[in-house]
Amino acid sequence: MKLPYSAPVHPPLESDSRILLGPGPSNVEPQVLQAMAASMVGHLDPFFLEAMDRIQDLLRYAFQSQNPLTIPVSGTGSAAMETAMANLIEPGDPVLVCVNGFFGERMADMARRYQGEVRILQRPWAEVFGLEEIEAELKARPAKVVAVVHGETSTGALQPLEGMVDMVREHGGLLVVDAVATLGGVPLLVDELDLDVCYSGSQKCLSAPPGLGPITIGPRAAAALAGRKTAVGSWYFDLTGVQKYWGKERTYHHTAPISANFALYEALRLLAAEGLEARWARHRRCAELLWEGLAALDLTLLIPEPYRMVTVTTVRVPDGVNEAQVRARLREEFHIEIAGGLGVLKGKVWRIGLMGHSAREQNVAALLGGLEAILH
Ligand SMILES: *Cc1c(COP(=O)(O)O)cnc(C)c1O
Repeated sequence: MKLPYSAPVHPPLESDSRILLGPGPSNVEPQVLQAMAASMVGHLDPFFLEAMDRIQDLLRYAFQSQNPLTIPVSGTGSAAMETAMANLIEPGDPVLVCVNGFFGERMADMARRYQGEVRILQRPWAEVFGLEEIEAELKARPAKVVAVVHGETSTGALQPLEGMVDMVREHGGLLVVDAVATLGGVPLLVDELDLDVCYSGSQKCLSAPPGLGPITIGPRAAAALAGRKTAVGSWYFDLTGVQKYWGKERTYHHTAPISANFALYEALRLLAAEGLEARWARHRRCAELLWEGLAALDLTLLIPEPYRMVTVTTVRVPDGVNEAQVRARLREEFHIEIAGGLGVLKGKVWRIGLMGHSAREQNVAALLGGLEAILH
């Protein structure tokens, strides 16, 4: 038979290695990539079921939580964000989203799609929220769900979380925290902070390939889910179904991305072996080296301490410099990837990620050397 369309011929895939210093994905350690090459097994194979248990155990360590419902959502960080919104919001529920950057806006967009009665507490990009202003907003009108981004990757600002849950709870709300760009890179103790929902992504500070979105559901959020009057607005992200697969029942829900889970398992094992405290210290050490080196190049940072993320640093592009050209030369001549600005910061900043396996001193030195050669 003659097919209407002939078979295209393309070369086998070969990617050069790069130093990934953007806001994700980060570099993946060779043994994590190797884990992806392990033989395929079924999603109900006892071998895989055991790996699932271990992944949950390791995730509880990473989140510093004992929450039984702690799993990797099949999908990227945005899928975990969507899981949080879909499961907590019923049509008409009042939702307060704190927006000071790109990912806060995404949370609000999702909350609206799940028919929350969404109110935005807005701050200019690059600023953070004070407890009082959130409280004033909740006093004026309570919300069932309050959503906030821990590390706003678009600006490099770190939102302090201390005291936030207690205040939100006093007003009858549940607190959702986006930790996509911070989990595994900066101190974040989910149970100690008593967060209701916290989620992340596999490809940032956890240094696994993109494709999984770890999430942990606290007891009050679990009770809210159990007490819903309406079905969760998303079939795929409905945790009542997903948790029967990850929990004791082992009921098929969807085919887990097996290889991505193998990689996450290995990445989390490396995280546990290094230890969270050592890992946090490594991220901070590398960030401080970067900040010193950037200052020596007369470059200034967008976010002042103590609200500066250590995992993503935003650098002001000096006047007269073509920021895209600098990034292109870093990529072509030095095999280093950094990112430009998003939204209102487009063209104004570079975003430099030092996350997971990418957070090492030789990467900082390579980047500073490249920037110096290009800018001077
Ligand atoms: C990257 C990121 C996301 C989205 O994650 P994806 O894996 O790109 O879907 C959400 N929130 C923050 C803070 C992020 O940095």
